Amino acid sequence: MIVITGGSVAGLATALALARQGRTVLVLERGGPPPEGPPGAVAQRWKRPTVPGWRHAHTLTSLGVSVLRRGAPEVLAAAVEAGGVVLDLVQAMPPYPLGRVAGDDELVSLACRRPTLELVLYRHVRDLPGVEIRHGACVRGLEVEAARVTGVVCEDGTRIPAELVIDATGRRAAGRSWLGAAGIGLPDDLTSPSRLRIFSRFYRRHGRAAALNRGNAAGLLGDHYASVLHPGDDRTFSVALGVLPEDRMMRTLRDPAAFTAAALATPGVADWLAEDVSTPATGIRPITCPPNLLRTLAVSPSPVAGLLPVGDAACVTNPLYGRGVSLALAHAFRLAGLLTAHPEAGPAQSRAAARLARVMFMPWFEAAAEDDAERVARWRAVMAGDPPPPRPGGLTMRTVGAVAGTDAYIWRGLIRVLMGLRTPSEVFGDPAFEDRVRRALGGAPPRPVAPGPTRAELVSTVMAGAGS
Ligand SMILES: Cc1cc2nc3c(=O)[nH]c(=O)nc-3n(C[C@H](O)[C@H](O)[C@H](O)COP(=O)(O)OP(=O)(O)OC[C@H]3O[C@@H](n4cnc5c(N)ncnc54)[C@H](O)[C@@H]3O)c2cc1C
Repeated sequence: MIVITGGSVAGLATALALARQGRTVLVLERGGPPPEGPPGAVAQRWKRPTVPGWRHAHTLTSLGVSVLRRGAPEVLAAAVEAGGVVLDLVQAMPPYPLGRVAGDDELVSLACRRPTLELVLYRHVRDLPGVEIRHGACVRGLEVEAARVTGVVCEDGTRIPAELVIDATGRRAAGRSWLGAAGIGLPDDLTSPSRLRIFSRFYRRHGRAAALNRGNAAGLLGDHYASVLHPGDDRTFSVALGVLPEDRMMRTLRDPAAFTAAALATPGVADWLAEDVSTPATGIRPITCPPNLLRTLAVSPSPVAGLLPVGDAACVTNPLYGRGVSLALAHAFRLAGLLTAHPEAGPAQSRAAARLARVMFMPWFEAAAEDDAERVARWRAVMAGDPPPPRPGGLTMRTVGAVAGTDAYIWRGLIRVLMGLRTPSEVFGDPAFEDRVRRALGGAPPRPVAPGPTRAELVSTVMAGAGS
């Protein structure tokens, strides 16, 4: 039997993929089960205090949709039946050069709140033969014999033997500390600060949807803050405002009036908040984002056999880029595929899993680290009233984004990266692509795609909102 510790997106998707191969799987989840009833109606009542982003804005990129289309079409269909919407991103493509091309059908995303998507995934997995999901089962350690993990130990002292343990405990990657407690040390993880505080709020739409200027979203990733709207299932949408955690002037965004003022000041978002379009459905939910993390247990061929991480337990990237769930789904299916070639827990299996995680995650860890460093330097300069930091030499998401709206070829490349279908080096490293971007830039510094308020305007808007 394979034991999966953690029954959220990564754990459930791994159980699904393994059950398809006829494997017997036990999922141990410390949290409680979801409520019964129609997903759209009950999912938001599912309490998951141990899932960090549970009550926050989520979007599923093209990568995530393509994994579901191939590996679990029933789950995608159930999400749509529950009110999720598959958004055709090509609608946002610039008009030149004209026409759809092969591969454009992949350029979609799923608008669905996280609890709704996870509930339909959960129910599908729960009903699969060979899968048991045990709730209230908090794992506290591992059984290890001769550098081989042979089982888990739960909080209540129950010992459960396992042919393989999969760590799906999320960003805290509990498997790493369990190994430490068993006397097995690991090298340091790769880590890089994300430096982002997010304030998010959900709304219910009763009027016509306004436009999405970013394909699957509206709003902007600006020079000193981010304000992004994502449509959800069942006529809902979220607005997430992102600022530097040290930005004292923006702490007041917790206040609904200040939050609303900032959201209304953002082009593309304001139209959605009109009285005849929507009403708030929740309060303001703040969260400080975790750093970008690539876990050594995931990527170094470890001396320990029988413990493999999946999803956030292997790699965390800044939620601003909306990739975590898609990467977790993709990792789950690819890890399960790898286990058909390496069914026996042992060094060969651990090495193959480490290679897979390195190939899958390193490009996204590096991209997030690079984009965050560039964004943080820029936001800090604006906050301090300093001149902008020098423009990085190579192509970045920001430089490409500045001209993507003028050329469908550049737009497709950027969207494929943003949506997780191609890595930045695959697209930006292509000389023809780079040449086209450079010609479009024409040597001019990149401009924001949509102009938002200046720092001074935003501060005064937020202060006025908070005082109203
Ligand atoms: C604010 C925010 C916004 C985000 N927005 C997006 C987005 O738009 N798009 C996107 O794709 N991703 C987004 N993410 C990232 C996404 O939420 C994560 O990548 C995803 O939840 C990872 O899934 P996971 O299953 O690996 O871990 P988690 O969802 O964290 O689940 C871990 C599970 O393990 C269980 N567990 C932990 N320890 C134990 C234990 N000892 N025993 C038993 N069970 C245990 C927990 O209860 C939990 O159920 C966002 C994250 C945040 C914080």
